[in-house]
Amino acid sequence: MHRRSEQGWIEVIAGPMFSGKSEELIRRVTRYGIARIPVQTFKPAIDTRYSDGQVVSHSNLSTAAIPVADSSELLHAVEDRTIVVGIDEGQFFDEGLVDVAMRLAAAGKQLIIAGLDLDYLGRPFEPIPSLMLRAEYVTKALAVCHRCGGPGLFTQRVVQSDELVVLGAQDAYEARCRRCYDPSEARQEPLDL
Ligand code: ADP
Ligand code: MG
Ligand code: ZN
Repeated sequence: MHRRSEQGWIEVIAGPMFSGKSEELIRRVTRYGIARIPVQTFKPAIDTRYSDGQVVSHSNLSTAAIPVADSSELLHAVEDRTIVVGIDEGQFFDEGLVDVAMRLAAAGKQLIIAGLDLDYLGRPFEPIPSLMLRAEYVTKALAVCHRCGGPGLFTQRVVQSDELVVLGAQDAYEARCRRCYDPSEARQEPLDL
């Protein structure tokens, strides 16, 4: 069996919607569970799309997850005995998640954080980029472009809205490659950044 070191670390799984981030997070935490290593998985309470007490992937894999309101609630919910801390939808947390992740890793926890690295306008979606810079291991996941089948690295909003967060799946967003991505599709007005 994999021998655990005393040292903590941070793993980030980043990419657009439909790139398999949740699937990969679920795969990793499930393996630790099989090895009887104490795992806790968290998700932002805002993300109640599928189920309150679970992370569920678009391919319908799932694992138990504790909904938390913010990074400080997460920090306080991590138990002493926990070794692996999974976090899905990291982009929906406040920027305090970076400090919380650093503190947990310093305390010997192994963090696995999945989240969007870019928002629907193609801008860095904090706190994921900052976490990537402080992670020992970064996995950049690609989806399949919904339009042409190419390497999808952007999340295209296909409904009209200027809100940063519009929760939804197939109906509101598509994964798009560099050539097919067009953020202006999601807005009536020209970009004003
Ligand atoms: P993420 O968490 O990155 O949004 P999930 O892990 O929930 O992604 O879902 C990944 C799964 O979604 C894939 O294994 C596949 O079954 C399904 N899927 C649907 N559309 C796409 C797409 N355009 N590209 C890749 N996978 C897709
Ligand atoms: Mg996901
Ligand atoms: Zn494309």
